[in-house]
Amino acid sequence: MSTLTDINLVDLSQPFDSKHMSMAPGLPQFSCCPISTVAEDGFSMHTVSFGSHNGTHIDAPSHFFADGKTIDQIPLSSLVGRALVLDLTYKGAKEVISWADLAQSPHIDRITSGIIILIHTGWSKHWATEGYWEHPYLGTDVAEELVARGVSVIGIDFASPDRSIFEPPWNFPFHQSFLGSGGFIVENLTNLGELQGPEVMVNLLPINLVGCDGAPVRGIAWK
Ligand SMILES: [Zn+2]
Repeated sequence: MSTLTDINLVDLSQPFDSKHMSMAPGLPQFSCCPISTVAEDGFSMHTVSFGSHNGTHIDAPSHFFADGKTIDQIPLSSLVGRALVLDLTYKGAKEVISWADLAQSPHIDRITSGIIILIHTGWSKHWATEGYWEHPYLGTDVAEELVARGVSVIGIDFASPDRSIFEPPWNFPFHQSFLGSGGFIVENLTNLGELQGPEVMVNLLPINLVGCDGAPVRGIAWK
Protein backbone atom coordinates (compact mmCIF):
# COMPACT_ATOMS: atom_id res chain seq x y z
CA MET A 1 0.00 0.00 0.00
CA SER A 2 1.38 3.40 -0.92
CA THR A 3 1.46 6.25 1.55
CA LEU A 4 1.32 9.97 0.85
CA THR A 5 5.10 10.16 1.36
CA ASP A 6 5.56 7.90 -1.67
CA ILE A 7 3.34 10.08 -3.80
CA ASN A 8 4.35 13.17 -5.70
CA LEU A 9 2.24 15.90 -4.06
CA VAL A 10 1.56 19.10 -6.00
CA ASP A 11 1.06 22.26 -3.92
CA LEU A 12 -2.03 24.06 -5.27
CA SER A 13 -1.81 27.09 -2.94
CA GLN A 14 -0.08 30.41 -3.37
CA PRO A 15 2.21 31.30 -0.45
CA PHE A 16 1.02 33.84 2.14
CA ASP A 17 3.87 36.32 1.69
CA SER A 18 2.99 39.96 2.32
CA LYS A 19 5.89 41.12 0.10
CA HIS A 20 4.84 38.99 -2.86
CA MET A 21 1.11 38.53 -3.00
CA SER A 22 -1.92 39.75 -4.97
CA MET A 23 -4.28 41.57 -2.60
CA ALA A 24 -7.01 43.87 -3.86
CA PRO A 25 -6.56 47.46 -2.64
CA GLY A 26 -9.29 48.55 -0.26
CA LEU A 27 -9.88 45.01 0.98
CA PRO A 28 -8.24 43.48 4.07
CA GLN A 29 -4.53 42.79 3.64
CA PHE A 30 -2.43 39.94 5.00
CA SER A 31 0.23 40.67 7.59
CA CYS A 32 2.43 38.53 9.81
CA CYS A 33 4.26 40.58 12.46
CA PRO A 34 6.70 39.33 15.10
CA ILE A 35 5.69 39.99 18.71
CA SER A 36 8.66 38.16 20.20
CA THR A 37 11.95 36.74 18.95
CA VAL A 38 14.13 33.84 20.02
CA ALA A 39 17.08 36.26 20.40
CA GLU A 40 15.28 38.68 22.74
CA ASP A 41 12.52 36.64 24.38
CA GLY A 42 13.61 33.03 24.10
CA PHE A 43 10.74 32.16 21.77
CA SER A 44 9.28 33.43 18.50
CA MET A 45 5.62 34.35 17.99
CA HIS A 46 3.72 36.42 15.45
CA THR A 47 0.42 38.23 15.15
CA VAL A 48 -1.20 37.07 11.91
CA SER A 49 -3.95 39.11 10.27
CA PHE A 50 -5.78 38.43 7.01
CA GLY A 51 -9.08 38.91 5.24
CA SER A 52 -11.27 35.89 4.66
CA HIS A 53 -10.58 36.18 0.88
CA ASN A 54 -6.79 36.65 0.86
CA GLY A 55 -4.57 34.14 -0.90
CA THR A 56 -5.74 30.72 -2.03
CA HIS A 57 -9.09 30.35 -0.29
CA ILE A 58 -12.60 28.97 -0.49
CA ASP A 59 -15.81 30.99 -0.79
CA ALA A 60 -18.73 29.64 1.23
CA PRO A 61 -22.33 30.39 0.17
CA SER A 62 -22.60 32.87 3.07
CA HIS A 63 -20.21 35.12 1.09
CA PHE A 64 -23.27 36.25 -0.90
CA PHE A 65 -26.24 34.74 0.96
CA ALA A 66 -27.00 35.63 4.59
CA ASP A 67 -28.63 32.23 5.18
CA GLY A 68 -26.00 30.29 3.17
CA LYS A 69 -23.60 27.72 4.57
CA THR A 70 -20.57 29.11 6.41
CA ILE A 71 -17.05 27.65 6.23
CA ASP A 72 -17.56 25.34 9.22
CA GLN A 73 -20.75 23.94 7.65
CA ILE A 74 -19.08 22.74 4.43
CA PRO A 75 -19.01 18.91 4.38
CA LEU A 76 -15.34 17.86 4.45
CA SER A 77 -16.08 15.07 1.98
CA SER A 78 -17.04 17.56 -0.73
CA LEU A 79 -13.53 19.06 -0.73
CA VAL A 80 -11.47 15.85 -0.86
CA GLY A 81 -11.60 13.47 -3.80
CA ARG A 82 -11.55 13.19 -7.57
CA ALA A 83 -10.96 16.33 -9.60
CA LEU A 84 -11.10 16.94 -13.33
CA VAL A 85 -8.60 19.45 -14.75
CA LEU A 86 -9.91 21.34 -17.78
CA ASP A 87 -7.43 23.15 -20.04
CA LEU A 88 -8.47 26.72 -20.83
CA THR A 89 -4.92 28.04 -21.24
CA TYR A 90 -5.80 29.48 -24.65
CA LYS A 91 -8.00 32.11 -22.96
CA GLY A 92 -6.52 35.59 -22.71
CA ALA A 93 -6.94 38.65 -20.52
CA LYS A 94 -10.54 39.55 -19.60
CA GLU A 95 -11.94 36.84 -21.89
CA VAL A 96 -15.08 34.98 -20.93
CA ILE A 97 -14.99 31.20 -20.53
CA SER A 98 -18.39 29.88 -21.51
CA TRP A 99 -19.98 26.45 -21.31
CA ALA A 100 -19.34 26.10 -25.06
CA ASP A 101 -15.59 26.32 -24.32
CA LEU A 102 -15.79 23.61 -21.66
CA ALA A 103 -17.98 21.48 -23.92
CA GLN A 104 -15.11 21.31 -26.47
CA SER A 105 -12.99 19.44 -23.95
CA PRO A 106 -12.42 15.77 -24.83
CA HIS A 107 -13.06 15.07 -21.13
CA ILE A 108 -16.48 16.70 -20.92
CA ASP A 109 -18.18 13.34 -20.28
CA ARG A 110 -16.15 12.96 -17.08
CA ILE A 111 -18.16 15.79 -15.50
CA THR A 112 -20.41 13.72 -13.28
CA SER A 113 -21.97 14.16 -9.85
CA GLY A 114 -19.51 14.89 -7.04
CA ILE A 115 -16.40 15.50 -9.14
CA ILE A 116 -14.41 18.67 -8.38
CA ILE A 117 -13.78 20.86 -11.45
CA LEU A 118 -10.45 22.69 -11.78
CA ILE A 119 -10.26 25.42 -14.42
CA HIS A 120 -6.66 25.68 -15.66
CA THR A 121 -5.90 28.97 -17.40
CA GLY A 122 -2.27 29.41 -16.33
CA TRP A 123 -3.19 32.87 -15.02
CA SER A 124 -1.46 32.04 -11.72
CA LYS A 125 1.84 33.00 -13.39
CA HIS A 126 0.73 36.64 -13.06
CA TRP A 127 0.40 36.34 -9.24
CA ALA A 128 1.67 39.46 -7.43
CA THR A 129 1.69 41.56 -10.62
CA GLU A 130 -0.79 44.18 -11.87
CA GLY A 131 -1.70 41.83 -14.69
CA TYR A 132 -3.18 39.33 -12.24
CA TRP A 133 -6.38 41.43 -12.11
CA GLU A 134 -6.90 41.17 -15.88
CA HIS A 135 -7.86 37.53 -15.53
CA PRO A 136 -10.38 35.66 -17.68
CA TYR A 137 -13.73 34.93 -16.05
CA LEU A 138 -16.57 32.40 -16.22
CA GLY A 139 -20.00 32.76 -17.82
CA THR A 140 -23.05 32.00 -15.69
CA ASP A 141 -23.89 29.19 -18.14
CA VAL A 142 -20.85 27.36 -16.69
CA ALA A 143 -22.37 27.62 -13.21
CA GLU A 144 -25.77 26.41 -14.41
CA GLU A 145 -24.42 23.45 -16.40
CA LEU A 146 -22.08 22.31 -13.61
CA VAL A 147 -24.86 22.48 -11.02
CA ALA A 148 -27.16 20.54 -13.38
CA ARG A 149 -24.48 17.79 -13.53
CA GLY A 150 -24.19 17.59 -9.74
CA VAL A 151 -20.92 19.51 -9.35
CA SER A 152 -20.63 21.49 -6.09
CA VAL A 153 -16.96 22.53 -6.09
CA ILE A 154 -15.10 24.54 -8.73
CA GLY A 155 -11.48 25.70 -8.39
CA ILE A 156 -9.82 28.39 -10.52
CA ASP A 157 -6.20 29.53 -10.92
CA PHE A 158 -7.14 33.22 -10.98
CA ALA A 159 -8.72 35.76 -8.64
CA SER A 160 -12.44 35.49 -9.29
CA PRO A 161 -14.88 33.61 -11.53
CA ASP A 162 -16.50 37.00 -12.18
CA ARG A 163 -15.06 39.94 -14.08
CA SER A 164 -12.11 41.70 -12.46
CA ILE A 165 -13.07 43.95 -9.55
CA PHE A 166 -11.17 46.64 -11.46
CA GLU A 167 -13.75 46.47 -14.26
CA PRO A 168 -16.86 48.34 -13.10
CA PRO A 169 -19.73 47.84 -12.60
CA TRP A 170 -19.20 45.60 -9.59
CA ASN A 171 -21.44 42.60 -9.99
CA PHE A 172 -20.95 38.95 -9.30
CA PRO A 173 -23.28 36.82 -11.43
CA PHE A 174 -21.15 33.63 -11.29
CA HIS A 175 -20.67 33.88 -7.52
CA GLN A 176 -24.39 34.42 -7.05
CA SER A 177 -25.41 31.57 -9.35
CA PHE A 178 -22.94 28.94 -8.09
CA LEU A 179 -22.94 29.85 -4.38
CA GLY A 180 -26.71 30.34 -4.61
CA SER A 181 -27.01 26.70 -5.69
CA GLY A 182 -25.09 25.62 -2.58
CA GLY A 183 -21.75 25.31 -4.36
CA PHE A 184 -18.26 26.28 -3.19
CA ILE A 185 -15.58 28.21 -5.14
CA VAL A 186 -11.83 27.88 -4.56
CA GLU A 187 -9.92 30.92 -5.85
CA ASN A 188 -6.25 31.75 -6.51
CA LEU A 189 -5.09 28.17 -7.07
CA THR A 190 -1.68 27.60 -8.66
CA ASN A 191 0.40 24.87 -10.32
CA LEU A 192 -2.58 23.36 -12.18
CA GLY A 193 -0.23 22.95 -15.17
CA GLU A 194 1.81 20.42 -13.16
CA LEU A 195 -1.11 18.05 -12.75
CA GLN A 196 -0.95 14.89 -14.80
CA GLY A 197 -4.61 15.05 -15.77
CA PRO A 198 -7.22 14.84 -16.75
CA GLU A 199 -8.16 13.36 -13.36
CA VAL A 200 -6.28 13.77 -10.08
CA MET A 201 -7.05 13.49 -6.38
CA VAL A 202 -7.21 16.73 -4.42
CA ASN A 203 -7.56 18.00 -0.88
CA LEU A 204 -8.92 21.56 -0.74
CA LEU A 205 -9.80 21.78 2.96
CA PRO A 206 -9.94 25.25 4.56
CA ILE A 207 -9.05 26.13 8.14
CA ASN A 208 -12.21 25.92 10.21
CA LEU A 209 -13.24 29.56 10.66
CA VAL A 210 -16.61 29.19 12.40
CA GLY A 211 -19.33 31.41 10.97
CA CYS A 212 -17.04 32.85 8.27
CA ASP A 213 -17.71 33.39 4.54
CA GLY A 214 -14.22 32.42 3.36
CA ALA A 215 -11.03 30.77 4.65
CA PRO A 216 -7.50 30.00 3.46
CA VAL A 217 -6.92 26.63 1.78
CA ARG A 218 -3.66 24.66 1.56
CA GLY A 219 -4.61 22.69 -1.50
CA ILE A 220 -2.72 19.60 -2.59
CA ALA A 221 -3.13 17.22 -5.51
CA TRP A 222 -1.81 13.75 -6.27
CA LYS A 223 -2.37 11.15 -8.91
ZN1 LIG B 1 -13.32 34.75 -2.36
